[in-house]
Amino acid sequence: MLDVPLRLSFSYLYRNAAPAPGVRVKVPFGKRSLVGVVNGWKSEMPDHIKLRRITEVLDDAPVFSRGLLDLILWTADYYHQPLGEVCRTALPAVLRKGLPETHGLLEKVYCLKQAPEELLERLQRAPAQTRIARCFIDRDSEIPRAELLQAVPGSQASIKALLDKGYLEQRQRLAPRDAAPPTQDPNALTADQGRVLDRLRSKTAGFSCTVLEGITGSGKTEIYFALIDRCLSRGEQVLVLLPEIALTDQIFKRFTQRFGSRVVQLHSALSEASRYRHGWWVRKGQADVVLATRSGVFLEFRNLGLIIVDEEHDLSYKQQEGVRYHARSVAIKRGQLHDIPVLLGSATPSLETCLNVQNGRYDHVQMLERVGDGELPEVELVDLRRYRPERGLSQPAFEAVSRSLRLGQQVLVFINRRGYAPVLFCPACQWSAQCKRCDAQMTLHQRDYCLQCHHCGARRPVPASCDACGAEELIHLGEGTQRIEEELRQLFPGATVQRFDRDELNSAAKLREAMARVHDHEIDILVGTQLLSKGHDFSRVNLVLVVNADQGIHSMDFRAPEHLVQQLIQVAGRAGRSSDQGRVLIQTSHPQHPALLAVQHHDYGEFVTSELQQRKIVQFPPYAHLALWRARSRRAEELMAFLEKVAELGRSLQPADTFCYDPVKSPMFRRGGMYHAQLLISAQRRSALHNWLGSWLAAVEKDRSGKNLKWSI
Ligand code: ADP
Ligand code: ZN
Ligand code: ZN
Repeated sequence: MLDVPLRLSFSYLYRNAAPAPGVRVKVPFGKRSLVGVVNGWKSEMPDHIKLRRITEVLDDAPVFSRGLLDLILWTADYYHQPLGEVCRTALPAVLRKGLPETHGLLEKVYCLKQAPEELLERLQRAPAQTRIARCFIDRDSEIPRAELLQAVPGSQASIKALLDKGYLEQRQRLAPRDAAPPTQDPNALTADQGRVLDRLRSKTAGFSCTVLEGITGSGKTEIYFALIDRCLSRGEQVLVLLPEIALTDQIFKRFTQRFGSRVVQLHSALSEASRYRHGWWVRKGQADVVLATRSGVFLEFRNLGLIIVDEEHDLSYKQQEGVRYHARSVAIKRGQLHDIPVLLGSATPSLETCLNVQNGRYDHVQMLERVGDGELPEVELVDLRRYRPERGLSQPAFEAVSRSLRLGQQVLVFINRRGYAPVLFCPACQWSAQCKRCDAQMTLHQRDYCLQCHHCGARRPVPASCDACGAEELIHLGEGTQRIEEELRQLFPGATVQRFDRDELNSAAKLREAMARVHDHEIDILVGTQLLSKGHDFSRVNLVLVVNADQGIHSMDFRAPEHLVQQLIQVAGRAGRSSDQGRVLIQTSHPQHPALLAVQHHDYGEFVTSELQQRKIVQFPPYAHLALWRARSRRAEELMAFLEKVAELGRSLQPADTFCYDPVKSPMFRRGGMYHAQLLISAQRRSALHNWLGSWLAAVEKDRSGKNLKWSI
């Protein structure tokens, strides 16, 4: 497997013994030298193929186990992605660069070559050297350099002198892990939790996939803990996948309180070096519980015993850039390959998962009550056609916020849009500020007073007058977090308002600090995006206000209603986790929309039933299988011509019961200065789609008409 964008693996000759699968090798590729991973070998090749030789074998032992290697091969095949690129996803940067496995993990240590007492007698005239020698009395034989320098500051020269005289020896060793015990005992389980746990534990060993559907606050995490306990007692490791945004300090802390230093986390906010170190501990069995975001599904384990996918419906499990895969599906495949159970947890399982439950392919357990006295909040839909919002808030919303503040409770205001106002508009000529590189409007940001494009990141100063007609009266339409924050400060001058979005809290430390202020009740009103919706337990929040639910309703994506319901249930779930009854207000112009009614009735099941019916009628997933060709180019004609060619090739190979749509411009045609277009195909049976794509891709790659533009499947 070589990290090149081709759907191929490459053959090389080996010298003496065949390197084992999973071992890294250096090979010539064109004029370059690349690091690759051996995925297998053949004893014979056709005569006419001239092979080059492996230059160097980099590992004694494989860096990928057979199981992980099979998972990589499966992923490349199932998603029709270049094998080398999938391999790259699974291979840490250190290994990709061809560095030794222990790179960055070693520390310098010193040991004495004789007993410290003996040495002390010889060193009487050298005080610094004497102090160094004393450090070795009653100690392990090896002392790390960092520790010696701390004990005897400024002793670099003395250490060197001792080394030169041959009294001291320098070695390298793997830095050991500090062990920390758990600090919290398990909670006594509720009756509901006990029942679910019995069900889960009664399963026979080996692969199974179970959905744990539990409403927000029903205590799913406690179930995970109990299952993890059992794995740890058997010497097994556990992978817990979490959505990007939910892997917060708070959740990590909960896990470390229960399992001490057996827990590690892996996500993109960590440095490359920490990620590698954590991954190494997992590989060597020095850490047993891994909290990771989607790419963690490709981690190497020593003895994996259980995979948990928390919030399994979350969109961040689907990787939309580079190698395309869905971490939930890969996790289930991994469960099969390792023959271990997989648990999918969610308050609102995806429709794909729900259908698999209905078909009996997945097992299903449910928790319908909140832990303790917490009841589900009362959800009201506020009709914006009847109550015109002023400063973003309708009259009922204003009253509800006032009331909560009077009672000393916290309020969460949710709005899924950053910035101040999404549109800068000229009433004189109808002009609005557009991004020069995208088919999109630029959002006004008040704090640093500029216009920003949320699609390509472009910025420009706010024009003083209309670009088109020169009029000076420009108005701000719509609202984002910054504007709502400002309005709330004016409406409720006595309240402390804190904004939670990527602009305001752009580091983990800032987010942590803001969360601490929420918990200390220094903040009365929290305004924010989905940064607020997940993974946080706000015990004093009793009112949740959704400023506008309508964006999700007008989307082109056929999954938009599903995502809207999931998101709103998640946000609503932040209310009333304490003993008081919580309240949720959703402002909308479509109070009859089935998605919103499902949220109001706390009836996700009702929504699932009706939405599955819809999908069945129009033959969309999970009742049919889709694939999407995507292409982008700086030249629009070239782009459409390529996709026309792709469609033509595809139609010549098309199997029965499949459908090939026409190539179309993507919903946002121009983005970041590039044109985007796509071609959708669907099939009744997955195998037909799969085989079709296989031969189709080969034809497109051979045709080479797409060689000057970027495309993906
Ligand atoms: P979910 O993930 O299902 O939304 P959590 O696992 O976060 O729910 O649990 C909600 C709250 O209830 C947490 O504060 C948790 O500590 C608490 N909790 C869960 N189970 C128990 C229990 N058996 N006893 C006491 N508190 C519990
Ligand atoms: Zn743009
Ligand atoms: Zn104008």
